[in-house]
Amino acid sequence: MTLRVGLSGGIGSGKSTVSAQLASLGAVVVDADAVAREVVGPGTPGLAQIAERFGPDVIAADGSLDRPALGQVVFGDAQARRDLEAITHPLIRRRSQQLFEAAPDDAVVAHDVPLLVELGMGADYALTVIVDVAEEERLRRLVELRGMDEQAARSRIRAQADDGQRRAAADVLVDNSGTLDDLRRRVDDLWSGRIVPFREHLADGIP
Ligand code: ATP
Repeated sequence: MTLRVGLSGGIGSGKSTVSAQLASLGAVVVDADAVAREVVGPGTPGLAQIAERFGPDVIAADGSLDRPALGQVVFGDAQARRDLEAITHPLIRRRSQQLFEAAPDDAVVAHDVPLLVELGMGADYALTVIVDVAEEERLRRLVELRGMDEQAARSRIRAQADDGQRRAAADVLVDNSGTLDDLRRRVDDLWSGRIVPFREHLADGIP
């Protein structure tokens, strides 16, 4: 039986860095953002359903989803947003499930879900791992390392759960307030069971 781990953290917390390291250590990583893009990729039934509901203007000339155009349509329109989610969420769930089931029986599957806490998905995992960095430091990294506009970064942060809500949802907090080397060591420790004995969670009967 695979061990399913939910991985999350606020924007700019280091989720991608942690999931890349977990992948290199041997975890099967399922990237929720990538799945969400895949199910509405060019030529997919998901994209066809979106075109049917929202019209041809949300499809770009190259046959891909025109995200800014779709964003304009659903922005401030709660019903349109619900309709979009009614199309995408089941497709995302089904595709994620396929990827989980394709993992080898003894695998650790890390599901990287930026909005895990906001979507209340904690119960889906044997273990919820949160990459934890104070908001101001995340803001600094997003602006200085990623070149993101400060106001845009602040509003992205504000649109998410706050650090306290995320910490409350965590089984394991991976502190990423130090250097990248510090983070690498913490993830190594997590993987090797020095932080939490991954497999014992299964033995405890947690799903
Ligand atoms: P997003 O929510 O936007 O997907 P993320 O949580 O996946 O972000 P990363 O992309 O892993 O975060 O990290 C954000 C930025 O901060 C990257 O440029 C990354 O290299 C850098 N970073 C991550 N951890 C550290 C650290 N401990 N020290 C310095 N820089 C870091």
